[in-house]
Amino acid sequence: MNKDSAETGNLKTLLSSIGASLDQFQKFEHPDAFQSKQKWLKKLDIPLPQKGVGIKQVTRELAIDVIANGSPVGNPFITTGATTAAVLATTASSIASPQRYLDTAFNFLEELSLNWLTEMFSIGHMKGVYSSGGSVANLIALGGARQYAFEKIGIDPAANGIDRPVSIYASMECHHTIQRSGGVLGIGRRAIKLIECDSQGRMKIDALLAAIEKDQQVGILPMAIVANAGTTNTGAIDPLLEIGEIAKQKGIWFHVDGAYGLPGILDERVKPLYEGLQYADSVIIDPHKWLGTSVGVAATFVRDREYLLRAFTQEPADYLEGSSTQAVIDQANYARGDIQKDSLSAKIEHSLDDFGIPYFDYGVELSAPCRGVAVWAMLREIGVEGMRARVIRHNDMAKAISVFAKQHPNLEVLLEPTLSICCFRYFDERITDLNSFNQQLHRRLIRENLFMPSTTKVNGQLVIRPCYVGARHLPAQVDGLLEAILRIGNELLAS
Ligand SMILES: *Cc1c(COP(=O)(O)O)cnc(C)c1O
Repeated sequence: MNKDSAETGNLKTLLSSIGASLDQFQKFEHPDAFQSKQKWLKKLDIPLPQKGVGIKQVTRELAIDVIANGSPVGNPFITTGATTAAVLATTASSIASPQRYLDTAFNFLEELSLNWLTEMFSIGHMKGVYSSGGSVANLIALGGARQYAFEKIGIDPAANGIDRPVSIYASMECHHTIQRSGGVLGIGRRAIKLIECDSQGRMKIDALLAAIEKDQQVGILPMAIVANAGTTNTGAIDPLLEIGEIAKQKGIWFHVDGAYGLPGILDERVKPLYEGLQYADSVIIDPHKWLGTSVGVAATFVRDREYLLRAFTQEPADYLEGSSTQAVIDQANYARGDIQKDSLSAKIEHSLDDFGIPYFDYGVELSAPCRGVAVWAMLREIGVEGMRARVIRHNDMAKAISVFAKQHPNLEVLLEPTLSICCFRYFDERITDLNSFNQQLHRRLIRENLFMPSTTKVNGQLVIRPCYVGARHLPAQVDGLLEAILRIGNELLAS
């Protein structure tokens, strides 16, 4: 039997060997995983091993058969490969602080990095909690909204459930995780009222007002208005100021989904579009998109974290509190508001005496990794200035595509970029079905394995949609993408 390497410990050598394979992978010189599938399947598709092969062999297989056949979504999709700083921090925390609770440096960095993000994004009135992604971050924010809306009419929805229909207003371009949140929160997916957008993909204010009014007439409780700070499809930013003012005036929870686009606020040229964030009751961001952590990091920010506490508390559990010191039990009860500060009986003398900030009561996860450490590492590495430069570079890349395409007879921009997404297509008067032509072009492009933008639809027209968010997305890629699209388009047209 092979010894467990964790018992003997030689992370230093093993990690450096994996690091070398990852450096190689990032050059994207390998064939696509699907093309070599038969080869790696033969090696990986094996029965449950009764005897182990040892850590050296595992490391070798990881490098040769697994890493080399990984995913190219980083190039340029909406999620991207983690930056080096984020990888180091995440790896470190998986060993040195497997849980985000307890009174440790990692728990401290969780809160510090959340506060740094609020400062960087000009939402200093908020407090946050990390979760696994935008889906869960939206769910947590809307859990807070449900608590707020029902407490106003004397009901604790988390404890007792809900007794009447509600509405959430969101634009037709909103991410579908909003609907799923409605399903999970027991208000139903159909409670999401989709508000029409203008030709730029932004929520129409008159349509929003009409929808709220219609519901008010039949006594449906308005639960939240959801606005996009950068839609996933096109990067459109809803009129946050007007929507925020309406929400404030009507006393409705105002949620801003900035999973992708919140970092855009760092670019002074688009910053004015974020005016209105000051009215937000909740905001989300996915650090695993534009900020470049590994996938599995989102943050929900709320004006008042007590709403999350009441929406998501687990209430005391014996296996947690029962296995802890009196100080931990006191701290947990104090955090839940069950006891007052002056009745904390036991003193904290050890990191195990205190859970630290009780993030497990602000969301839906108990065991959870430390995510803040990756955000901290990234911001320590390049600072706000570095992050701003990256955001500006990516916005410039989308802009460069648009500028070039507008003066080229065979390219057409369907939506002027707001942020780092450009929606454009190949065009020629002789093409009868531009949608299927561009679909075909896109499939050929992907097969070349160099550029992996997605497609989307803008007002019914299929467009190619590069989205630049990765630290490894560099301006030269724009020229490469444009050349490839023109070359493939010309070939398709000639054939
Ligand atoms: C990506 C995205 C989501 C979903 O986030 P995940 O991290 O994929 O769960 C939600 N809203 C918006 C606007 C997004 O761009």
